[in-house]
Amino acid sequence: MTAQGPGISGLSRPELWSLPAYNAGVPEDVVKRRYQLSRVTRLASNENPLGPSPQALAALRNWTEQLHRYPDPACLALRKLLQEHTGVDAGRIAIGNGSEDIIQSLCLAVLSPGDRVLTPAPSFGLHEIFPRMMGAQVEKVRVSTAFTYDLSAWTTALRTPVKMVMFSTPSNPVGCILNREELTALVAAAPEDSLLVVDEAYFEYAQGPDYPDSIAVLAAQARPWMVLRTLSKAYGLAGLRIGYAIASDPDLVGLLDRVRTPFNINGAAQAAAMAALLDPGHLQTVVSVCRKQRASLAHALGDLEARGHFGLRLAPSHGNFLFLDTARSSSAVAEALMQRGVIAKPWRELGFDTFLRVTVGTADDSGHFLSALAPSLAAIATTDAG
Ligand SMILES: *Cc1c(COP(=O)(O)O)cnc(C)c1O
Repeated sequence: MTAQGPGISGLSRPELWSLPAYNAGVPEDVVKRRYQLSRVTRLASNENPLGPSPQALAALRNWTEQLHRYPDPACLALRKLLQEHTGVDAGRIAIGNGSEDIIQSLCLAVLSPGDRVLTPAPSFGLHEIFPRMMGAQVEKVRVSTAFTYDLSAWTTALRTPVKMVMFSTPSNPVGCILNREELTALVAAAPEDSLLVVDEAYFEYAQGPDYPDSIAVLAAQARPWMVLRTLSKAYGLAGLRIGYAIASDPDLVGLLDRVRTPFNINGAAQAAAMAALLDPGHLQTVVSVCRKQRASLAHALGDLEARGHFGLRLAPSHGNFLFLDTARSSSAVAEALMQRGVIAKPWRELGFDTFLRVTVGTADDSGHFLSALAPSLAAIATTDAG
């Protein structure tokens, strides 16, 4: 040891040394300043372009009178409301400072070094980062070439003991879902003692005959499970940070309570979340606008490909985003888009670094994206000769 000591990296747990950073993207004003732009379109974080319910905004304004008070650490009123919404007893509902906070608490509570965790590839970054932070071994199951969950690959991977199985449906970033038969088969293939974590961040967008009631599927079997939902996406409250989980057992909620900080869900978020949940009309508008814009954006991308032969391939999506193979370095494409005022998310995961994830915004947002995309693609050579 030198007089200066071993340095900061010597202080950290070894799990942190190779931990990937979450790719949270570039803020809007940084982009404006860097490229001297007056207009920037944010399509990198799957935010809701219509924002929250006006009733949530009104609840927030009223709530300011309680700014000096600590929030309810048990979120009782919100959990009671969610009990009515989901039909699940409030004792089996956990609230988090965003659903990512619940993922972190869950990993803190249940994972030990060496535990095996299964998640899809490509995957939501935090499904890998938080387990690895705990020293777990994360194994990934790749999506099929048709951009669907590869059930036979999952069945094989699930033959070996696994502590936690965590996936999103609709998948972030791909957009695919597991239908009832597929979800049932995947669950049945998991070892009896695995914890199943189903992240439904895009639940509201995916409602339809193909999208199963995962709580019913999971409740029909004995493995422990948790379903994650959030107010950040369709409810438009990403800035407040609030999400919830439905658990197989109240003791699982109790485990999260032991590792979280007591006041992790602020009062403003609790008040706004309740008001947002009580405005199903706004939610319906958000979802139907998104579906319409998603279809026209997908159609326009098809047209762009037919005209320009860029090599684009698009995954069908049940979420408020599209996953697009640009056939070139998506980091280079994202940079070229940014110069033109559009922020999209280049996927950096091994095997998917030609893919761009684009949020479905307003018709204007799509127009800006499409007009920036054609010259960006034309300026960048394809990765493959073909
Ligand atoms: C956006 C997202 C989250 C995070 O949601 P917060 O509630 O804002 O923390 C979690 N999981 C997936 C798959 C997401 O896409």
